[in-house]
Amino acid sequence: MAKIESWAKRSEGWSVVVHGGAGEVPSETAGRQAEGCREAAERAAVALRAGASVLEAACIAVQCLEDNPMYNAGTGAALNEAGELSFDASIMCGATLRAGAVGALPAFQNPIAVARAILEEDRWVLLCGEGAAKWAESRGFSRASAQAMITEASRARLSAVLRNGGHGGWAGGTVGCVVRDAQGHLAAATSTGGIVGKPIGRMGDSALIGAGTYADHSAGAVSNTGDGEAFMRTVAAKMAVENMRAGASKSEAIVMLLEEIDRRLGGLGGTISIDALGVLAWARSTRTMSWAAAAESWTETFVGY
Ligand code: ASP
Repeated sequence: MAKIESWAKRSEGWSVVVHGGAGEVPSETAGRQAEGCREAAERAAVALRAGASVLEAACIAVQCLEDNPMYNAGTGAALNEAGELSFDASIMCGATLRAGAVGALPAFQNPIAVARAILEEDRWVLLCGEGAAKWAESRGFSRASAQAMITEASRARLSAVLRNGGHGGWAGGTVGCVVRDAQGHLAAATSTGGIVGKPIGRMGDSALIGAGTYADHSAGAVSNTGDGEAFMRTVAAKMAVENMRAGASKSEAIVMLLEEIDRRLGGLGGTISIDALGVLAWARSTRTMSWAAAAESWTETFVGY
């Protein structure tokens, strides 16, 4: 069984935790990844201080990470076997259980913004592929230039994976966020390019409400990263939230989740959470997961990897 590291801290008022993906980030870049998380958490904190909703704050944090080419989301994301961008993203409102998600979405600057528009329209939950792209265009989003969003580093990663027969495609760098406001409203959001060299049309847990993302203000909010197939098979985000509802305290709910995914399926990953009482937590069974957390009642932003 992999060793699980975790952290938890209580907060009052609004609070936010972001992650920059579970994986094996080399020590030269891990610090910069953590600083990118700090920037995202602090932007969300500024918005919450100014009265933004939890959905707005979650989108601000995730878009900040999508726009940062260091992460596997938005610009710089992992490429599929055809060398294309194919985004998964999801967002959920804990007060209303409204949710929006996109799977295998072609190049758009901020996939999480499209997922949020689906949530706001409150008719569908998950749209995928070209259908999702056409829906987004019909709601005023423009397609992005894939060439402008693909980085040299992501091309090089794909070549290495293809040379290796398609193995070793876990990129790390998926991004996510959980937010609570002073009234106890919760939101969760996740965004990724998925696995390097994945088949065309593959969708992972980050596209799925209940697997990658879940929020229910009566229990908690969760965003996951890691071995997507294992997180889908265990409906991992919902499982963690149900652990919180059952009374798991501090980081217990997400540690229990990661233990179960490792024990049953040999899957590794990481999770961030906020429970209904304002306890912020992260846990990981991988060697690294960059993260940052800020809260109204704290004088500093906590950061790590
Ligand atoms: N869970 C993501 C996926 O399987 C990958 C990751 O979080 O690194 O698409």
